[in-house]
Amino acid sequence: MTAVSNIYPTAALRAADAAHHIHPFSDTKELNAEGSRIITQADGVWLTDSDGNRIMDGMAGLWCVQVGHGRKEIADAVHKQMCELSYYNTFFKTTHPPVVALAEKLAQLAPDHMNRVFFCSSGSEANDTVFRMVRHYWAQMGKPEKQVIIGRWNGYHGSTLAGTSLGGMKAMHGQGNLPVPGVHHIDQPYWFGEGGDMSPEDFGIAVARKLEEAIDQIGEDKVAAFIAEPIQGAGGVIIPPETYWPEVKRILKERDILFVADEVICGFGRLGSWFGSDYYDLKPDLMPIAKGLSSGYLPIGGVMVSDRVAEGIIDKGGEFYHGYTYSGHPACAAAALANLEIMEREKLVERVRDDIGPYLQKHWQALGDHPLVGEARMVGLVGALELVPVKGDRTKKFADEGTVGTICRDISFKNGLVMRAVSDRMIISPPLVLSHEEADLLAATAKKTLDETYAELKRTGRI
Ligand code: PMP
Repeated sequence: MTAVSNIYPTAALRAADAAHHIHPFSDTKELNAEGSRIITQADGVWLTDSDGNRIMDGMAGLWCVQVGHGRKEIADAVHKQMCELSYYNTFFKTTHPPVVALAEKLAQLAPDHMNRVFFCSSGSEANDTVFRMVRHYWAQMGKPEKQVIIGRWNGYHGSTLAGTSLGGMKAMHGQGNLPVPGVHHIDQPYWFGEGGDMSPEDFGIAVARKLEEAIDQIGEDKVAAFIAEPIQGAGGVIIPPETYWPEVKRILKERDILFVADEVICGFGRLGSWFGSDYYDLKPDLMPIAKGLSSGYLPIGGVMVSDRVAEGIIDKGGEFYHGYTYSGHPACAAAALANLEIMEREKLVERVRDDIGPYLQKHWQALGDHPLVGEARMVGLVGALELVPVKGDRTKKFADEGTVGTICRDISFKNGLVMRAVSDRMIISPPLVLSHEEADLLAATAKKTLDETYAELKRTGRI
């Protein structure tokens, strides 16, 4: 591959980055010793780095660039909005055209019983909003003792205090004495890793009933809400067994608690439906959203609010003491509107459901035959490969967990494809505009990467 920049700018950028920039979710010491990869440009599903290499963005950034990179239309909409009204807040009885238009649009796209949205700037802020909103709701409904929120181990809801607490990432909890009080975690529907001898169907029901057990143990009068991702993303694309959501729905119907479906990854077409809640017919009370809402062009998130919750937090009156300087930022709202317009015009949701989704899934399933792969799974355009040392035996794990995933990820990058490693699972979540040719290439590169990883593991005696 040809270098478009000489060595100096890359080296200088790396040095300055190491000297001054603390990266999210990184071992900064280790990263600085190695040097960051510098991405300078992107177009469609393709990234370009500072050495001129083109790399396929198999993760749509961080699961967010639904419409692909470099859409001038969004940049133009933002530019126009910034020239007209670059910023004004939505506090103190004010509003502005783009935020009104976006709220109305979201009410139209969301499930029928969700007609309102509270805006923020990220998925984490959305879940901080959820944390406060569910407690506020119950206080307004005359049940202030309903405070506990039930989340799931290995769920991910962001990295603020509330997000980390609601999520079930033990390593994150370990830093800073989290979760905050009032959060309880139950098991996840991860059949491949935790299903033991059970069939996926039996395991799905058994693990769903952990919710019922938790509510009974804590006391229904103390439980405010249950929060879950329709499909866990950051936890490793955990697709629940088919029996899981129907059983959870049965339990939620019988219990007076709110249900929060975290749509930060599953929302905006990722599963071939506008929301993961549509895909699984979940009828949530609240839906945190972010990422695909603006395809990551500008930071914006929100919480979709059902008519039921609106009764408590709006109809009953009284101020909800919550909000952000950038709640409903005009330029971010304009970016989101332009993004949603592209998604509708190009029928990207339908495309994932009927065309490119099934097309890539077929390729992906075929990777399940590889000797290194214990399971290949995908819904819509989000998938995972379970890397295993012994094919056919779900109980066997690699000795130094996570190392093989990292090796595979690095080989994938060298081969020109961004795949993410979650421990020893390889994750893919490409832009929804992925073409058939690009899907062919993605699958071929993933196959080549698996072959090379397998050879490397043999060479180093890991298998
Ligand atoms: N919820 C889910 C399901 C997520 O996947 C993420 C981010 N990966 C978040 C919340 C947090 O979003 P953000 O990084 O925008 O704060």
